[in-house]
Amino acid sequence: MPPFKGVVFDLFDTLVDFNATLFPVVEINGKPERTTSRMAYDALYEAGFAMPGYPAFHHHWLDVSKEVWGERDRDPEYREVSSSDRFRRFIGRLTSIPEGERTRAAVVAMTAHMEGLAGSTVFDPARLDILRQIRGAGMPVGLLSNFDNANAAHGILERTGIAPLLDVTMISEEEGYRKPAGRLFRRVAELIGAAPGDVLFVGDTFDADVTGPQGVGMPCAWINRKGAEVPDGAAPPDYEIDRVEEVLGILGLDGG
Ligand SMILES: [Mg+2]
Repeated sequence: MPPFKGVVFDLFDTLVDFNATLFPVVEINGKPERTTSRMAYDALYEAGFAMPGYPAFHHHWLDVSKEVWGERDRDPEYREVSSSDRFRRFIGRLTSIPEGERTRAAVVAMTAHMEGLAGSTVFDPARLDILRQIRGAGMPVGLLSNFDNANAAHGILERTGIAPLLDVTMISEEEGYRKPAGRLFRRVAELIGAAPGDVLFVGDTFDADVTGPQGVGMPCAWINRKGAEVPDGAAPPDYEIDRVEEVLGILGLDGG
């Protein structure tokens, strides 16, 4: 059995799943689009803010999102942009909302967006047993998630019952950096109390969850549900699995 001294999981689509069919759908220019922007729009409207029409609102929404994600993707240090930053920038585009009301408006919009995201997640409580079994075998369990709103992430961890089963919890907004930044993987190993080479990382996104740990010599298990190819020129993961449950087999804990 591979001698790991700890296991670190990604959060979304690893421990907790996004279900696209639960995601709000809005018709934009006659085409259905999955977006939380309508929820934010309605929340702002109900809170009494002076609003532009929804199409203009949605246009700024997409534009600022693209701007922020582009900045993140181009940053060689992988710094995170917090969702409160993103929402302040977005509300700054809405000239109908007076300067002095923008901070409050950003909070209203962000809260509605996060409720939309959280409402699109599903959790299989059987996953708690995976974490319990790993801890029961004496290995600490960590979580390292790319998410731009730490409050919302902690809320999901609490609600699902995952939070009390974690020895280490790292959310990119709180760390200031996103996976695949090597510093995050070194730090999570340090907090677990093991060398990076003795920790197994488990996640579903190749760049973040395979390239990231590989950069610091941390073994990884890639959850590849759709049977995707390893990207050209990339090193394959140490393990490839279809379901997070299979991590127990890698750890020799599947009772076989
Ligand atoms: Mg993920």
